[in-house]
Amino acid sequence: MYAEAENLLSSARYFEALHREELDFSDKQPGEVFACLTQNRTCGELISQDKTVYGEIPKCRECVSAQQNGRSSDRLCRFQDFRTFIFRRNVVKPSVGFLKYSYISNPEEFEPWLPTKSALQTSPEKLKLSAGKMLSNVGDCFCRIVREEQEVLDLHSKSCEVQNYKPSVAYKRLPPLVRDICDVCETTLFNLHWICKECGFGVCIDCYKENKADEERDPDDKALLRRRIWPPCTKENPDHCSTDLMLTQLIPGSLLFDMSEAMHALRDELKREWRAGQPVIVSNIGKRMDLSLWRPSKFSDDFGEEEHDLVNCLTDKVLVNQPMKKFWDGFDDKKKRMLCGNGLPMLLKLKDWPPGADFADVMPDRFRDVMQALPIPPFTRRDGIMNLASYLPSQFLPPDLGPKMYIAYGSAGNPMLGTTNLHLDISDAVNVMAYVGSSGELQDELKKATRALMLAGVDLSTLEAINETDRLPGALWHIYEAKDAPVIRRFLRKIAAEKGHRVKADSDPIHDQQTYLDDTLRERLREEYGVLGYGFVQCLGDAVFIPAGAPHQVRNLLNCIKVAEDFVSSETLEKCFELTKEFRRLSAAHANREDKLQIKNIVYQSIRQALSVLLPETILFVCVFVGIDFGPANMQRTEKHLDAALDAMIQRVTDLKNAIAQVIAKIDVERDTLKWPSLLDSYGLL
Ligand SMILES: [Zn+2]
Ligand SMILES: [Zn+2]
Ligand SMILES: [Zn+2]
Ligand SMILES: [Zn+2]
Repeated sequence: MYAEAENLLSSARYFEALHREELDFSDKQPGEVFACLTQNRTCGELISQDKTVYGEIPKCRECVSAQQNGRSSDRLCRFQDFRTFIFRRNVVKPSVGFLKYSYISNPEEFEPWLPTKSALQTSPEKLKLSAGKMLSNVGDCFCRIVREEQEVLDLHSKSCEVQNYKPSVAYKRLPPLVRDICDVCETTLFNLHWICKECGFGVCIDCYKENKADEERDPDDKALLRRRIWPPCTKENPDHCSTDLMLTQLIPGSLLFDMSEAMHALRDELKREWRAGQPVIVSNIGKRMDLSLWRPSKFSDDFGEEEHDLVNCLTDKVLVNQPMKKFWDGFDDKKKRMLCGNGLPMLLKLKDWPPGADFADVMPDRFRDVMQALPIPPFTRRDGIMNLASYLPSQFLPPDLGPKMYIAYGSAGNPMLGTTNLHLDISDAVNVMAYVGSSGELQDELKKATRALMLAGVDLSTLEAINETDRLPGALWHIYEAKDAPVIRRFLRKIAAEKGHRVKADSDPIHDQQTYLDDTLRERLREEYGVLGYGFVQCLGDAVFIPAGAPHQVRNLLNCIKVAEDFVSSETLEKCFELTKEFRRLSAAHANREDKLQIKNIVYQSIRQALSVLLPETILFVCVFVGIDFGPANMQRTEKHLDAALDAMIQRVTDLKNAIAQVIAKIDVERDTLKWPSLLDSYGLL
């Protein structure tokens, strides 16, 4: 029997436990261990490979559903590279457990997490300029994340103590280029999370905490009970209960806490700097672009034959799968536009085109053209050193930062209609006006546009400048400061109530994006709530910066083609982080609900970069060493090691200072009789 088993194991991936006593023997069987290995294929493949050995182990939920739907679960299997098997002599069935970071002997596996010089993604000289600022801005956020994680560990240790278990944390390798998400709220799993040993179901620490709190509040409350129901397990008793789940980490050992220690030591020396919170416009970047690429006729030539969804802004109805030629033909010619039921020309916008993250593939020339023209490149480019999103290493699924296009007919004559209703975004963005055109009656349209701008409170000097330079006024923007969002929400709820609309509990009047604040509503917002936004016009070639979390709305006065790129700056990071939490609560129907930015990963990696460049090598070494060698249960030891390293360094600096002071004193007194070589020797300065 076991020749067969050994044979089978020869192709498997062994793990080498650093500390054998830590091996996960859940069934406590006796017998000499002869092989430890991690599951190196999907559950389905493993079981079909040898039914006598693996026949009774549970399949993960992905493998079960893949089998039901007749597809492959490759790369999705929850237990691949994670579940472990320990084989003993004379025992056919292995003990089943899960990987721990201490089983891994190859430190290269931890590379994506460590603050080493090899982590640097730009030159150290360049990064040194921004690392200080990064620590001071991102640090608070990082600290908050670390505190939350520490709380989870503390609670876990306590409950293990009560039940007389040794606290342990499983370690899951980062799945390459897959965003691991919470099965309940779909937020990105950052580090600690809870996993079902039977089916691999995973919940984030927030969902877990909420579930536990509800359970403790009143176990029989029907409403709470309903909220507490999680997606079912694949085993016979299908209820997932918080107490059955296994705590799992993605960042190895105590490294997260070591990084936090090191960060505090460095940051306390640094000062706070400015934080931006207002929109900024940079004019004339069109000069750096090839504007011929962005003409409607060029788009029509390149993509006219393809089909896509259109939205009629007059009725909010979606026209599915229309040949785009129809849209482009009417773009600059009102007479060629499709008609509504009442015979009026439609007011169309192209819905999310090109879809998803395809921009660079679908139109590489335009991609290059806009990216090289973006103003303030350290913030806006994908590799910009102030763009924190650039610090995600290549092992992570890159966040979708765009660019995205906003293409719509203008509506100077419809002051109540927005092209993009009031909403807010989770990251910073820069929006470039690449084309502005009239629908054939320019003078009339300009008159209406000027009137709209005056009503919107755009200042006179701007209006004059537009008239003098013949710059076509493309879009009217209103941006409010992020801090005003809660008040604006109250206002929108009041309006909804006045209209007799009911607002559901898991909806949000800003995120729902149902309202355009026209002149009357903006005036009411100012009078009744004291909230005033910034109204301004975006002309051809203007780039508008929108800070994360700032509510904004757009109304095209003439026909516009805009292109926008997202980025993450340390100035608004705190806001991004809060927003991610807020978005978690939205109903599943919201496109914005997912944590597409992976904000916690961005925070972690930014701190890692800053530490990589700022930490002296000695501390770095200790940090790396400690990170690999001690588990979360040994935090005390870790702290001692760091303290010892710091003490040693401070002592060395003090010694040097004293030595120099003594030398100077001696030189003063014995200037004439001094023998240099012996002096330097005796003070150990060489
Ligand atoms: Zn599986
Ligand atoms: Zn969750
Ligand atoms: Zn389960
Ligand atoms: Zn937006």
